[in-house]
Amino acid sequence: MKNSFGLYIHYPFCKRVCYYCHFTKQNFDKELSDKYIDFLLKELELKGDKNKIIDTVYFGGGSPGLIEKDNITEILKTISDYYTLSNNTEITIEINPEDADLDKLRFLNKIGFNRISIGTQSFNSDDLKYLKRSHSAGLSLSVINDVKTAGFTNINTDFIIGLPTQSKETLFHGFNTVKDLAIPHLSVYVLEGVKEENDNENKLDEYLYFQTDAILKNLGYFRYEVSNYSVSNYESIHNSKYWKNKEYIGVGLSASGYENGIDYKNTENLYEYFELIKEKKLPIKEKSQIIKMDRHIITGLRTSKGVKINHFKKHQETLKMLLKEQILIERNGYISIKNNKILLLNEILTYFR
Ligand code: SF4
Repeated sequence: MKNSFGLYIHYPFCKRVCYYCHFTKQNFDKELSDKYIDFLLKELELKGDKNKIIDTVYFGGGSPGLIEKDNITEILKTISDYYTLSNNTEITIEINPEDADLDKLRFLNKIGFNRISIGTQSFNSDDLKYLKRSHSAGLSLSVINDVKTAGFTNINTDFIIGLPTQSKETLFHGFNTVKDLAIPHLSVYVLEGVKEENDNENKLDEYLYFQTDAILKNLGYFRYEVSNYSVSNYESIHNSKYWKNKEYIGVGLSASGYENGIDYKNTENLYEYFELIKEKKLPIKEKSQIIKMDRHIITGLRTSKGVKINHFKKHQETLKMLLKEQILIERNGYISIKNNKILLLNEILTYFR
């Protein structure tokens, strides 16, 4: 039987680089972007394997919404030439409000994209000013309208919390807007590494995180992963592969993948990326092998459902201790992190590496 894989495609250019962003990206340059697309197609070809069934494709970045129409068509064509696409492939693209227009959105929907992730970040103008984003809340609202007109129903919106401009009330207003717009999925990230670390700010982040959790739960969204909320049946199939220990192929600058029990990451250096592909070599920079059972724990503890208890055979003592401390809980044969301890996730994971 052929294996099924997710396919992540990284596009590293943005119209404007945000000061808080940790992704691999740089300012958009048309010539460089065209060259990058050529090399991306070559990498897809190099890695191609018709025995691999692709059931999710995710265009992330950077700002993949900037990729021109003919280039997107070419990428999708290359994927179907070199891999086997399953019938119901989930195909997602991230798009910033300032990069979207109805014509482009209609085009994306027509050529097969069936899920869209919009980089709204907030519906509050003070938050957007703090983040120095170039779009307004009004633009986000009109783009969401266009996204629906273009035929999308599977929609995610990104939110950033932990901003000094936020309060419980403004958060409530923002999440209520998402609900009113009938958006079925939200990714909520805590702004990190910008403010000076101090206890009060950490407490504020903690407060906002749990407020977010409570507000969204009341509005009918459930948290299925640390940063991801959805109404039922709208969980991201692609992203869930990361947390369910499923295989995925990473293509593009800095892209990560997991195949045959090996985690790998492509180079983050654009010129090295070009050079390696020119030599017909895969642009992989790091490889590591984590025992499958430990990987189940490390990825699965991010989810609300948790990890089957039999994956903890090697960690009986640690498990016993974390259950006793009420950091982990057992439910129906699954181990998960107790809701109020979720912000300790990274610390907890160190016990299982
Ligand atoms: S637009 Fe998105 S990917 Fe680009 S710099 Fe800003 S946050 Fe990062």
